[in-house]
Parts: sequence; C-alpha cells; structure tokens
Amino acid sequence: MTNDEHNALEWMFFNSPKTAKDAIMIKEDYYELLGVQRNASEEEIKKAYRQMALKFHPDRNPGDKKSEEKFKQASEAYEVLRDPEKRSLYDRFGHDGLKNAGFSGFTGFEDIFSSFSDIFEDFFGFGGLGGRRRGRAGARRGADLRYDLSISLQDAAFGTEKKIDVTKGVQCRECSGSGAAPGTGPETCTVCRGTGRVTQQQGFFNIATTCPKCRGAGSYISKPCKHCRGTGKETQTKALKIKIPAGIESGMKLKLANEGEPGERGAPPGSLYVVVFVEEDPFFKRHNNDIVCQVPISFSRAALGADIEVDTLNSRETLKVPKGIQSGDLLTIKGAGIPHLNSSGRGDQIVQIIVKTPTKLSKKQQELFQELEKLEIEHETSKNFIKNIFN
Ligand SMILES: [Zn+2]
Ligand SMILES: [Zn+2]
Repeated sequence: MTNDEHNALEWMFFNSPKTAKDAIMIKEDYYELLGVQRNASEEEIKKAYRQMALKFHPDRNPGDKKSEEKFKQASEAYEVLRDPEKRSLYDRFGHDGLKNAGFSGFTGFEDIFSSFSDIFEDFFGFGGLGGRRRGRAGARRGADLRYDLSISLQDAAFGTEKKIDVTKGVQCRECSGSGAAPGTGPETCTVCRGTGRVTQQQGFFNIATTCPKCRGAGSYISKPCKHCRGTGKETQTKALKIKIPAGIESGMKLKLANEGEPGERGAPPGSLYVVVFVEEDPFFKRHNNDIVCQVPISFSRAALGADIEVDTLNSRETLKVPKGIQSGDLLTIKGAGIPHLNSSGRGDQIVQIIVKTPTKLSKKQQELFQELEKLEIEHETSKNFIKNIFN
C-alpha cells in the first residue's frame, strides 16, 4: 500500500456514515447536475446554473416538487463549484469532504435567493418577484421618515412654502453604500465558506450554528470604508422646500416620495411624511372652514348700533352691528374664512358680539347712566300704566 492509498483509506474511515439516514442519502454529482465538464470554467458553470435556475425557478413552477428539488440541487452544486476552495475540496473528497468542512447546503429558498441575488436580479430585474427579494440579503426599500412641522393658522389658511432641514441617512459617498473600502468588495466568508452557518460534530450529531465571523451573512467586509465605518451610510442634513397647500388642517400628512432613508443596494428610498400641526391662534378659532372670533363692544354701541372694524385672517373688514344687539349674538362676514382645500371658495368668519358692561365710570358717565336709569324706570312705569288701563 502506498502512502497515498493509506491516506485515502483513513479518510474513508473517518467519513463513514454515522447514521442510517446519512448512509442512504446518495447525492448526485455536482458536475452532472449542472451538465458541465469537470474542467468547466467559472463562466461555464455560472451559465449552466443560470439556465437551470431559470427553468426550475419555484415561481415558474409553483407547487412542482420535482422542479423545487432540482432547483435546490442545482443551487447547491453552483454554490460549491463557483467557489474555488469548495470546488477543490469536492474534487478531491466528494460530498463527504464538503460536509466535513461544514458545508451543509441551503436551508431554504430564501437562502438561495440571497446567496445568488446577483443572478436573480439579472433574471427578473428590480422588484420583479415580490416577496422573494425582501429576504436577509434582498434589496430592501429605505425606511420612511416623519417630520413634525408647526405652522400658523394664517399659513394653514392661505398655504405657504416652508424650508425644513431633515437629517437622514444617505448612501455613503466614498463607497456608494457598499460599506467596503473603495476598490474592494464584500468577500465570501472563509470560516463558513459563504453559507452563514458552521457545523460542529459532537459525537454522532452535527450541530449547525450561525457563523461567528460573518454573523450568518455569508460574506464580510475585510476592508471597511473608512468614511462610513462599513455601514454604507452617512448622515446628512438636507434642506427641503415644502409646499403647504391652502386650507390644510392640523394633523394632515404631506408625503414627499423618495426623501426617506436610502434603500439597500439600489432599492428605492423611503418617503418622508411631514405631519402638519396648526398652532393655536389667540384670536381666531377654526371650525371646519369657518373662522370664529369674539369681538367686544360697548353698551351704548350695542344699543345704538355701529360700524366696527374687525380683523380677518388677511385683512380688516367693516362690520355693521345692528342696534339692539345682544351679548353672544353672531354676525357673519361672508367668505372671510379658510379656503377650501380641494375646491374653490372660502368659509365664513363668524363674529360673536360680546357686550361689555363698563366697570370704571367717570363722573360724567356715572351721571349719564343715572339719568338713563331714571328714564328707564319712567318708561317701565308708563308701560305698566298703559298695560293696566287696557287690561
Ligand atoms: Zn461566515
Ligand atoms: Zn462608506
């Protein structure tokens, strides 16, 4: 027995089936599976896998178990043969050699799609196949952001343009969001060989755990971008102009598409939602599209009637107060309210008249009020007298 033969024997012994289940699992040859020669180039292997993946893709063969199995097998074969280290391990020691090195294939479709996202992205284009690509390594849309903006009632009524500063994550300028130093890229993890999992043998059992080096990602960045420390993002404060439409109400949201956080690896960014809060005004209260306010007037003006000046949201109007108005009565200034948000026209301004009882009287005023009172008593008495006569 030569030395080489001796080594091969030892290897076989070491890898002999440990359980009945292992023993009956006969795996197909990876090269045969993909239909390539044993000396096939990386490019040929990739091309063969692309063709198979396209043909047996689960989304093209829904519910077809055979296609599913073929898809998984082909993916496993490609995962091994595209990696020179795994390929040489397989060439020398076959399936057992890989298993011993911790390669355990894929746990499910999600795993496959995320490992070969470059290939599947080519197939279907961005956003082609719904849920599939939102997995761990799928391109995720950026998060939505919220910005609370306070505006005055006048701005809410007539609309305005506001400048706001939004601090948000943007794609790192140095690494274009990859997180890897310029000129480098993520590398396949050498510990788990891209699977994201490591298998340890304890007695008869294989215990698979998440790879400690890449934390399950399957790849890692050996030279992180210095600018973003490998996150692929940096924060930036962006000045944005917001157009506030006339008639907006407190609590309404304005959506600014694409102004949220950036998406991962070319996925679209999220949206920015500006939530508008209308500040309380000391004079005007809003009631739907009407504006309500209170205007105090004196006793004598209430009795005699008067033209008074009333502030509106954007001007000053003369309001005719009829004689004999009572405290609490309502008068209307047509069309001085809030413009309708989605149609033409404006609400009204409702003016509540508050008759003020004077509290500090001058001597002259006191005399006049006393005279007035006397007249009122005489008036009452004569009225009663007349009433008594005719009843
Ligand atoms: Zn790893
Ligand atoms: Zn960077």
